[in-house]
Amino acid sequence: MTFAELGLSPEIQRAIDELGYTEPTPIQARAIPLVTSGTDLMAAAQTGTGKTAAFVLPLLERLKKFASASASPAMHPVRALILTPTRELADQVGENAARYTKYLPLRTTTVYGGVNMDPQTAELRRGVEILIATPGRLLDHVGQKTVMLNKVDILVLDEADRMLDMGFIPDIRKIVALLPKTRQTLLFSATFSPEIKKLAAEFMRDPQTVEV
Ligand code: AMP
Repeated sequence: MTFAELGLSPEIQRAIDELGYTEPTPIQARAIPLVTSGTDLMAAAQTGTGKTAAFVLPLLERLKKFASASASPAMHPVRALILTPTRELADQVGENAARYTKYLPLRTTTVYGGVNMDPQTAELRRGVEILIATPGRLLDHVGQKTVMLNKVDILVLDEADRMLDMGFIPDIRKIVALLPKTRQTLLFSATFSPEIKKLAAEFMRDPQTVEV
């Protein structure tokens, strides 16, 4: 399997070529076509398997139609929301998303707790299509009305098992309540425990399943 066979757009292909990715990892080969087709997806994958690109690359493919060089924040509502359990993971995902969007005018930013809110607020006010966030800090921004989530097309729950263990489910429920009902939801988790399956049943519609 090659990346070319996955049919990613030239702007995305060029960015991954420059990063030296020569072939998709197993999770990427299986997840990318499913996510590109628009289905919900539950994927079991550990860190180090290339799981971040497995959801970010097809997500960009789906959001490409919204790419716009406009300076107006109103033209850049949040289209994809990626929730992570920790600031470290949020940073990693954010750095990767920035690399993969090198040739696409889609804005990304990352927000998490434990740091001053003001720089995050300024970034949100500029408008971003792709927002990577830890749940508590995202709700703080929602409370301050610096971010609207009513245009979110894609929700990603990254390391959902850790979010469960860390007690983030009530926050995630509050966030999901703010999202459009018609959206695509992706859930990545190291394992599919009964609790994770319950969460999937609550937040997802007929998810496809991929385990590597
Ligand atoms: P992750 O599992 O998402 O944390 O990714 C692990 C590492 O693999 C990251 O440093 C990625 O940049 C890198 N990576 C992801 N996909 C590929 C690929 N297809 N080829 C080479 N490296 C990759």
